[in-house]
Amino acid sequence: MPVDGIAPSPKKRLYLFDIDGTLITSGGAGETSYREAVGEFLGTLAPLEGLNFAGNTDTGLARGVLLAAGKEPTREAIMGLHDTYLAILADRIHRHQGNLLPGIIPLLDCLKERPDAVLALLTGNLAAGAELKLTHYGVWHYFAFGAFADDHHERNQLGPVAASRAFEEHGEDFTPDRIYVIGDTPRDIECGKAFGAFTVAVATGKYSREELSSHHPDFLFDDFSDADAVLAAIAPLQD
Ligand SMILES: [Mg+2]
Repeated sequence: MPVDGIAPSPKKRLYLFDIDGTLITSGGAGETSYREAVGEFLGTLAPLEGLNFAGNTDTGLARGVLLAAGKEPTREAIMGLHDTYLAILADRIHRHQGNLLPGIIPLLDCLKERPDAVLALLTGNLAAGAELKLTHYGVWHYFAFGAFADDHHERNQLGPVAASRAFEEHGEDFTPDRIYVIGDTPRDIECGKAFGAFTVAVATGKYSREELSSHHPDFLFDDFSDADAVLAAIAPLQD
């Protein structure tokens, strides 16, 4: 303790949450809206064949779909597809039966109360799509900023974007050893490892605990229903 008796405030940690399969399931609203948008925008669903949605970014999907349709993935074409998707999602998000995943609210509440925790998003969703989904499920307000598909079409490029936004917001340099990337797919794990952050995998999406384990995340949970256990692992109290 310093001589003036004031303990230094603990160094902040940055928690970067994925959305689909991690915070919520949209009951298929996201994927169905994307498929419908492709059909509406391109007049065919053929370019969707073999595309893996899980952990991909919306801009990555748009590029893949346009290329598969034999079209240049120009900025205009990508934005056109995105606008179509967002209009459909704004309607479908209310019509599909999705839900918050187990333990999310208690976990977010506990982290939000901690002076050493910063909550943000790292997601393959477009920012506008993320806002639609998380507002509908009542958790958008927990996150002050994020890195989105608008920032880059490769998920692995989004970690440094999130870290630099955190610096802008908090005036603090978050080194990778104080950043946690939290998600439900191997792509989330890969994305965290790509910039040296801790990786936290949760088997509430399409991947089993065993599948996620084979990608060697630093932490692995069946779900987040035991908030105390999750916090003890990823947010241990600091001196
Ligand atoms: Mg996900």
